[in-house]
Amino acid sequence: MHIINEPSTIITHLHTVKERIHQACLQCNRDPQEVRLLLATKTVPAERIRVAIEAGETLMGENKVQELRDKAPGLADLTIEKHFIGHLQSNKVKDVLKYATCIQSLDRVEIARELEKRLQAMGKPLDVYIQVNTSAEESKFGIAPADIFTFAKQLQSFDTLRVKGLMTIGLLDADPLKMKPSLRLLRRLRNELLQTGIYTALGLSMGMSGDLEMAIAEGATMVRVGTAIFGNRVVPGYVWNEQANQ
Ligand SMILES: *Cc1c(COP(=O)(O)O)cnc(C)c1O
Repeated sequence: MHIINEPSTIITHLHTVKERIHQACLQCNRDPQEVRLLLATKTVPAERIRVAIEAGETLMGENKVQELRDKAPGLADLTIEKHFIGHLQSNKVKDVLKYATCIQSLDRVEIARELEKRLQAMGKPLDVYIQVNTSAEESKFGIAPADIFTFAKQLQSFDTLRVKGLMTIGLLDADPLKMKPSLRLLRRLRNELLQTGIYTALGLSMGMSGDLEMAIAEGATMVRVGTAIFGNRVVPGYVWNEQANQ
């Protein structure tokens, strides 16, 4: 797919994605209201994000603090819930809190500690998702599945952090079926975490342009979609290589 600039085309694609979500929910007897759509807007300029927001969307996610900052003025008149979905470094924690109301990529205690320190000073809580590396690839961020229980326990000592769910990217492969075990693993970990009694409810942020139907079938409560709405990114795939791009 090419880069989509035309507002009417963005809206057409947005409708197609909403319909895909709707149909996927019907297929597995889920209420479509249970699945939120997050616009994954990395590299997408504010004018194009605006088109989707004015068409009724309310939630966007960025992978870089700098993009959140750069696009903020161009979106200032709109009501948008902004999540951070990229790899977070300690030295960016202060800045990310100026723009995002949820960090979906929490995967290290050091970051939790830094967030807690800043949030205590600001006197406010923050929603977070624990990012899990469900594909066992060295290059991906996220906590290892085996470490999630320890991590969840550690997070309990940070009063300002409200764990809302688990997030994963999963195994990206030319064969989309290879994604399924990642999605299933995230669901299993969610269920096991609920059994510990640490949490009473946890969402599942999983599913992207190519696999949102599969993710919804596996229980996703939020799908994060970029390409299927905005077209290809200027720098395709950079997100899977974030370390090199920070
Ligand atoms: C880019 C990105 C997405 C969306 O991917 P698409 O394939 O463009 O829909 C979802 N989640 C994260 C963390 C991303 O970086």
